Amino acid sequence: MADRTQVAIIGAGPAGLLLGQLLHRAGVETVIVERRSRAYCEARIRAGVLEQATRELLIEAGVGERMRREGLVHGGIRLHFDAESHRIPIDQLTGGRTVTIYGQTEVVKDLIAARLESGAPVVFDASDVRVEGIGGDAPVVRYRTGDSAAELHAEFVAGCDGFHGVCRTLAGADAQDSWQREYPFAWLGILADVPPSTDELIYARHARGFALHSMRSETVSRLYLQVAPDEDPDAWADDRIWDELAVRLHADGFTLQPGPIREKSVTPMRSFVAAPMRHGRLLLAGDAAHIVPPTGAKGLNLAVADVAVLADALDAHYATGSDTGLDEYSDRCLRRVWRAQHFSWWMTSMLHVDPRDDAYGAELARSQLRYVCTSPAAATTLAENYVGLPHEFAVRR
Ligand SMILES: Cc1cc2nc3c(=O)[nH]c(=O)nc-3n(C[C@H](O)[C@H](O)[C@H](O)COP(=O)(O)OP(=O)(O)OC[C@H]3O[C@@H](n4cnc5c(N)ncnc54)[C@H](O)[C@@H]3O)c2cc1C
Repeated sequence: MADRTQVAIIGAGPAGLLLGQLLHRAGVETVIVERRSRAYCEARIRAGVLEQATRELLIEAGVGERMRREGLVHGGIRLHFDAESHRIPIDQLTGGRTVTIYGQTEVVKDLIAARLESGAPVVFDASDVRVEGIGGDAPVVRYRTGDSAAELHAEFVAGCDGFHGVCRTLAGADAQDSWQREYPFAWLGILADVPPSTDELIYARHARGFALHSMRSETVSRLYLQVAPDEDPDAWADDRIWDELAVRLHADGFTLQPGPIREKSVTPMRSFVAAPMRHGRLLLAGDAAHIVPPTGAKGLNLAVADVAVLADALDAHYATGSDTGLDEYSDRCLRRVWRAQHFSWWMTSMLHVDPRDDAYGAELARSQLRYVCTSPAAATTLAENYVGLPHEFAVRR
């Protein structure tokens, strides 16, 4: 394994792997260091809605072939409340833009396959990963694999190690501002081997709480229920889950088809931003710098957008010696991050039942939902945020 590289990338999630792919294609050397095994990374069930800009970037990066074949292109979403079903025609409201339903697990598998095929180095199962010297010109990454200790000298370190990683802590609390909000609920998510009961995602608000009917393919459904943050997934037998989903997703003309549940987990809901995203030679990207509640389907897309800006900036540094992109990296990303923060908070507030709220708050949320379903202006606000930001925010390589 190399002991020297231009960019050391910490973390083989979507952010780290895509950054590695874009830089490899630009001729910049990278080493990816990941603490988990390849199998673990490829099995992690998470996001599944790709914005149009994410789809385009994956294709441009040479990893979009299977997504083009197997991904489901959606031009709208459905909102269910008060036993009614309303369609938001996202494509019509955004000049033909769409989202693609393709699991994060599949994106990660495609990126790992491309990495291995390229021969560029990636270290799985690295333990005790430490990064030193980000304030100077010669950062070092130290880690262990099995019984051996390794040392990687780099010119830059990309901190793509997610919300619980080590990189964000390196700058020290004094050098960072952070903002966060905890929500008094979580999502119980299931993966079920049953064809979706809908051809577009359904977001439902019910007096008993939020529900979402999503999918991963023509034969695999992904569904969620709002639950308490400390909910034990084992307290939910399969029949109880399907019964509750049927109640909350109910609308005239809709029938939910139950099936065998393959995976069950509880995901907490949190909003968080740390700024700046650059500290000397350390550049944070994706969940390492910010997270959103999943209601707006923005987490994975934000990670991809950060990396698109970062790859351009590092490419320019090595190709032309210009550091303008690196200097502007944090501000450019944060503008998009805050728009996604607001959208994710707004969708979450409108669609969930806050146990701390009163009946007045619940009526405000229902009124907002009705407005989105009856006003083209309000529907367009939802549509253009859901499909990806307007052009001046859009990141294109
Ligand atoms: C449980 C869960 C469920 C989610 N569900 C949804 C969803 O339904 N919809 C949605 O839109 N978004 C969802 N998200 C958000 C979305 O999956 C993330 O925004 C996305 O994974 C961000 O990618 P990333 O590469 O920045 O971080 P990650 O995917 O977290 O990748 C970080 C990588 O760094 C590695 N790492 C961590 N620490 C170290 C270390 N010290 N050294 C080396 N490697 C390290 C990790 O093992 C991991 O592989 C979910 C997130 C979680 C955690």
